[in-house]
Amino acid sequence: MPEQHTTQRELFESRPEWAEDDARRGTIATVVLSEGVDKPLDYLVPEPLAATVEPGRRVRVPLGRANRERLGYCVAVRHGELPQAPLKSVVGVEDEKPLLSPRMIELTKWMADRWMARWGEVLEAVLPAGVRLRTRIRMSPLLVSSGAAPARSPTPSQAKVLAAAADPKTAEQLAKETGASRAVVSRLVKLGLLREAGTVERPSRGAAAERPAITHDRPAELSPPQESALAAIKDSMRASRHETIVLFGVTGSGKTEVYLQAVEETVSYGRQAIVLVPEISLTPQTCDRFRARFGTVAVLHSHLTPAERHAQWREIASGRVNVVVGARSAIFAPTPRLGLVVIDEEHESSFKQATAPRYHARDVAEWIAKAAGVPLVLGSATPSLETFARCLSGDWRMCRLANRVGGSQLPAVITVDLRERGSRSRGAVSPRLAAGIRWALDGGGQVMLLLNRRGFATHVQCQACGHAARCDQCDLALTLHQPGNRGICHGCGLVTRIPADCPDCRAPGLAHSGTGTQRLEEQIRRSFPDAAVARMDTDTMRSRGSHERTLDAFRNREIDILVGTQMIAKGLDFPAVMLVGVVNADAALHLADFRASERTCQLVTQVAGRSGRGSLGGRVVVQTSTPDHPAIRAAAVHDYEAFVRSELPVREALLYPPYGHIVRIVVRSVDERGASDWAGNVADRLRQEAAAMPLVRVLGPAPAPIARLRDRFRWHVQVHGPDGVALRDLVARATASLKTPDDVAWIIDVDPVEML
Ligand code: ADP
Ligand code: ZN
Repeated sequence: MPEQHTTQRELFESRPEWAEDDARRGTIATVVLSEGVDKPLDYLVPEPLAATVEPGRRVRVPLGRANRERLGYCVAVRHGELPQAPLKSVVGVEDEKPLLSPRMIELTKWMADRWMARWGEVLEAVLPAGVRLRTRIRMSPLLVSSGAAPARSPTPSQAKVLAAAADPKTAEQLAKETGASRAVVSRLVKLGLLREAGTVERPSRGAAAERPAITHDRPAELSPPQESALAAIKDSMRASRHETIVLFGVTGSGKTEVYLQAVEETVSYGRQAIVLVPEISLTPQTCDRFRARFGTVAVLHSHLTPAERHAQWREIASGRVNVVVGARSAIFAPTPRLGLVVIDEEHESSFKQATAPRYHARDVAEWIAKAAGVPLVLGSATPSLETFARCLSGDWRMCRLANRVGGSQLPAVITVDLRERGSRSRGAVSPRLAAGIRWALDGGGQVMLLLNRRGFATHVQCQACGHAARCDQCDLALTLHQPGNRGICHGCGLVTRIPADCPDCRAPGLAHSGTGTQRLEEQIRRSFPDAAVARMDTDTMRSRGSHERTLDAFRNREIDILVGTQMIAKGLDFPAVMLVGVVNADAALHLADFRASERTCQLVTQVAGRSGRGSLGGRVVVQTSTPDHPAIRAAAVHDYEAFVRSELPVREALLYPPYGHIVRIVVRSVDERGASDWAGNVADRLRQEAAAMPLVRVLGPAPAPIARLRDRFRWHVQVHGPDGVALRDLVARATASLKTPDDVAWIIDVDPVEML
């Protein structure tokens, strides 16, 4: 804008020309601090750093009166007029290359708004720690920030090195580039003009290298429903038009085969695919199935060391890896040419992050796929009601795969009513379930028993006075674990010895009740001494690899009966399983969570699908005290959609998700009054703001279902309403001016999936 320039110049006539130019125009970086201040801040980019400050790199900036140096992400750079108030300057650049693409920066901004998280927190969350750690020697703040000369003028060779160091480099690179000796570099470090910031990790090659591949034959032809699902995905790819395609298919209907062929198509265009699976399904079997087709596959799971994860990240960014398989955060993998995103078991609540930023990978995946103009494929035997509703509204396309490939039948399901006399005569296993187990073992088959409670007994109580063993720090009953009569709190993990006598009334012997997986295993061993029994829950699966080892042993028929929590309900194909027993289908049905019946129906349907996958046939026995509950009834006839049809109108009438949104605020304090008073404050403010919004309801304050955890009292407030954006604005307005007392902590969870 030359005209404007001229007019302004006239205003500054009294000043020398070069000064006004410098004073009025400049390069400004917008920086989001990784901690602390929430608002993006503007900083001046000094000339020596002009070439290196760019969006996606981290920079060091002074903050506050003391100008304490802080780390932040540069999210934008603009050239132009400087504001009236003087700007502070960027003092250093942290990264050799941008860590984030412009699209990723945009995504993090969107995520921060969508889940009411701090932008800086989101930026930190999308980058693995190993990537963020990678810093190098960089220019001293002293030299750049003030522009003042250091105490002693640098020698010419020192100056050369300093100029080259504006861009982070190793000491060797600096020396080589400038022709200076290493001593010059060392001297500058000693003088404090250069800082050595961490070492450069050279991760071992081959983190993404091939494991011995198992052969997994590509079927000669797809079934007609598989064909049409694949055609829908390919149409979207060829047209470069984003579409979300939902594969609603029973276990064994060939969904994974569709993903594999869709990935093949993507790779054939020279593009990359991200496949998300729940962490628990990231077994070598799953990975091998992808490796057998695609060779090099990057697998991102939570057991990777920062260096391994960093190596994978770099391989992906270089474009050398075409297929990324991973859990939730793999959605942020830096694929340069993304062509497809797949989410398997999309209904799993683990796709929502439980800590800040509390994002849901399904929504993030949709944003990314939309931005890239590529298909998003969601697969499940039991899609979430959110996903179902999007399909019913015509937003997303649903492809049904109603039958198992190869024509194997879904197993017959027998429900055992636990209210009937005699059903509990043999502990947790009813005579009919025991008969089913015998039938399977005698037929040469295997058995899986699901019980979603770990430990030995779920309650320990004095029969004389009613005293129940509870955790000292949490409002939770202790679970008895053997050996050693240990009472373990499943909220905080605290272990206490259960005393022999009642601590209240001194009556001898505390009684325990409620069966956990440990006691079930013991009962099963006693009742079926000829069978090899193993247990799979978080207690037995603590060491790395134990999960895979147990599954391998089960596949190799070294185990006849596998007892476990929901861990055993997921994913895999065991052809010899003839009987699946659900020991207590109601375990999760009556939790204080509006999704309790959805979860129950999903879990029972999923585990039932493990039975009868091979030629031996199969049965399922479901033990329940509420056989007429829609969730149980639907699962018993393998008709998940019947449950969806009964549940959606209920949600709609209450404006619950998927027809409405929820923002939950959880307040914690060591002081009960502190927590309740402050939750009351929040609720009052929300009600004031919500007064003009007829469909918005504020619920609470109330003690959270887990009212105390780790010595913190927990209270919560919920806001429900039809419009998510309006709801978030409301919460932002209501909480903006609140001053949090020191002993109170609180979080905002937008569209929560856990309500405890
Ligand atoms: P899902 O992911 O729905 O559980 P999979 O894709 O794992 O189903 O398929 C179940 C089994 O059937 C696998 O062993 C797979 O190799 C096999 N399979 C899948 N599609 C076909 C097909 N069109 N023809 C023959 N076998 C198939
Ligand atoms: Zn506890």
